[in-house]
Amino acid sequence: MQIITTKIELQQTVSEFKKNGKSIGFVPTMGALHEGHISLINCSTKGNDYTVSSLFVNPTQFNNPEDLKKYPRTFEQDKKMLEAAKCDILFMPEISEMYPEGDKKPFYDFGEIATVMEGRFRPGHFDGVAQIVGKLFELVRPTKAYFGQKDFQQLAIVNMLNDKYLSHLKIEVVPCKIIREKDGLAMSSRNLRLTKDQRKSATIISQTLFEIEKETRRKRIDELIKQAQEKISSDKNLKLEYLEIVDNKSLKSVSDWNESKNLTACIAVYNGTIRLIDNINLPSSDYLRYSGK
Ligand code: AMP
Repeated sequence: MQIITTKIELQQTVSEFKKNGKSIGFVPTMGALHEGHISLINCSTKGNDYTVSSLFVNPTQFNNPEDLKKYPRTFEQDKKMLEAAKCDILFMPEISEMYPEGDKKPFYDFGEIATVMEGRFRPGHFDGVAQIVGKLFELVRPTKAYFGQKDFQQLAIVNMLNDKYLSHLKIEVVPCKIIREKDGLAMSSRNLRLTKDQRKSATIISQTLFEIEKETRRKRIDELIKQAQEKISSDKNLKLEYLEIVDNKSLKSVSDWNESKNLTACIAVYNGTIRLIDNINLPSSDYLRYSGK
């Protein structure tokens, strides 16, 4: 695996790769890698001639300076994991390389999908995400770019960024399923910061979502949300920020199952000072009918 730290070298190397019509898969990350990240690398290596990954803790997407400071950094271990997963190029720039002096934030308008849930509680977060993904897409110009459904709303933003502002690059954004620990907890770099006690509490987050999945279209939405709120508030470490059942496209919160066939339950919870998010795609009414459930 080749490690590259400058934009110019990255551009030169990928354009060499692209000669003779070779395909490039791209996996952007902020490091502190786990099996979730590696599943994206595996999808990329299966589907492309070359795989490029980036490791950059992007300061512009952190609305909380403490979160940025404490974000886990495990660079040496990350390199080993990427190497073992047969990643071809690791792009690891300094902050000044991505944000040289005088660099201007581009204006992107994502409408309402950027103002709900994460957008509401982390103002400016998606502007920062779009800023860095836009820069990386322009540099790497991959055939396909892989993103985890773990960051459900981020995926919607990246899709809109790609379709509305970067369609000239002709990149296919590929969504990848959420990878979970054995007990259901969605893998996340922030899990590294949990104490033993908080790690136990964390399993309640995915359990809550699995219960909603089980009761989808059987119980009323307000009943399910109330049940979930009670479960979370009964744990001393957990504090619910939001729990919403939203339409997959508009990301609008629904209060009745008939409002949409394609729904996802999204949750954000503080576990001590560590903020965790998770989501689950809910079965459609068709699924319930055909499966005889
Ligand atoms: P991050 O390093 O947290 O910015 O994540 C980099 C990429 O990995 C994003 O596309 C995430 O959605 C994805 N990702 C993070 N955690 C998981 C997971 N548990 N399962 C699948 N993809 C994940």
